[in-house]
Parts: sequence; C-alpha cells; structure tokens
Amino acid sequence: MTGRIVKQISNDYTVLSDKTYICKARGVFRKTSETPLVGDIVEFDEEKKIILKIHERKNYLIRPTVSNIDQALIVTSAKNPDFSTILLDKLLTIIEFNNIEPIICFTKLDLLNSEEIKHIKEYMDYYEKIGYRVVTNEKKSNFKNLFRDKITVFTGQSGAGKSSLLNLLDPSLHLKTDEISYALNRGKHTTRHTELFSLDGGMIADTPGFSAIDLNSLKPIEIRDNMKDMFDMLKNCKYRDCMHIKEDGCFVLEACKKDKILNERHDNYLSFIRK
Ligand code: ZN
Repeated sequence: MTGRIVKQISNDYTVLSDKTYICKARGVFRKTSETPLVGDIVEFDEEKKIILKIHERKNYLIRPTVSNIDQALIVTSAKNPDFSTILLDKLLTIIEFNNIEPIICFTKLDLLNSEEIKHIKEYMDYYEKIGYRVVTNEKKSNFKNLFRDKITVFTGQSGAGKSSLLNLLDPSLHLKTDEISYALNRGKHTTRHTELFSLDGGMIADTPGFSAIDLNSLKPIEIRDNMKDMFDMLKNCKYRDCMHIKEDGCFVLEACKKDKILNERHDNYLSFIRK
C-alpha cells in the first residue's frame, strides 16, 4: 500500500493511507542506512506493518526532519522585534534553495502607527511585486485555502507571533506544536518525535526555524540564483556569470540605481555572499 508518514516516535512511524497504520522501518533500510522521514510517501505492508520503500523526496529539512515540504510560511514581525529585511531575505533564500514555496506572513501590524504602516506596506508591495505571496495575520480568512493539499512548515524568529498565529488558525494546534518545540528546544528528549498536523485540508509542521541551516552551506552562486528579483534580471546582465557586485554592464546594479530593486535587498545579498 502507499501512504504518507505523518508521525515518528523513535522507530514507530504512523503512516496515513486509507486509515493510519503504525509501522516499523526495518530490513532493507538497515543495509542502505536510509531513514524514513515524516512527510515521506512510502510503500508499506499493511499486514506486517513494515515500511518497504521510500518514494523519491522533493526536499527535506534537518531540524526537525520533515520531507516533501510544499511551502514555508515565514512569520515576520512588523514590530517587537522590528522588521528586518536581512532576516527575511535570508529565510527566503534558504527556502527557495530547498525548493520550497515561501509565503510571507506579516504579524503585529496593530502595533504600528500610521507612518510605520505606510513604511511596512511598501515592503509588502515590493515582495509581492517580485512574486511572493504576502499575507497578514489580521484575520483568519486571510489564510483561506492556503494550506489545502499542501505540507506547510511554519518558521520565523522567536517573538514574531508564531504561536498566536497557530492559535488563530486552530486553537488545538498551538498546544500540540508547543509541546514538540519545547522538547526540541530543550534537547532533553532523546526520543525523536516529529509530527505533521492537519490544518484546513493540508498538513503543517512547526519548525524551530531555518536558522540551524544557515547560508554558510550555500555557495555564492547558489545565493545569487535563489534571490528571485535578481535572478530574474541575470539574463539582462552583460556577462552570464555576473555576480552583480561591480561588473561592467550589470543590469542589477543599474536597477538598484533606478530603485527598481529594493537596495536593502541587494546590500543583504552582498553581505550573504561575503559572509
Ligand atoms: Zn549583474
């Protein structure tokens, strides 16, 4: 049978198919040192409750280990902690690199005065213009159909309001994900526990953040190619291997001068590739 692993506690894998089955991974996986992950589509023996084969993954994250992620909701605080393009751009780049669709969710807009709102809206418009979905957490209906048939991970800096967002979406989720993230943060639990939760016709995983996977593992060229606006302009640069630093005929640098690219984002890019 085919199903998806939705939960792992030590060596017990909960596989969701026509119903849920608690399976073990043994035999073939010992030889290949392959480990089934939450999110994996697997073939399993429903009688013996054994996982037989893992379908090819489109991606996976390490902490926690979740595979086949469709999208990542980046919970981004407008204030307290103050909005930072560095953090947002860093997450966007890492998420894009992992072949995951990012969604930017701005929180705490109610803490802003009218001047600050205007300022944040400019950023929201820019990220939307370059092709990202941008939402705010002001009401639940902003998330309509966002999670359907998808595996979504939630990420963002601590204090950005991830817990209250989960609470808004489904009050029962908050408690469940909190327990896991508490255990993960403490590192006390030697038992591995990863779980996907149902939400609005899809599944979600709460991640402590992508910060554990930082940009240091990416090559400058990978950083360049995973910053959407600049990647889209590369074809117009004079040189195909242009790194948009100070090259002759660089379209990106021209675009920065004309404010067609958010200059902060280009500055962030330079800081990322120089590390
Ligand atoms: Zn260039």
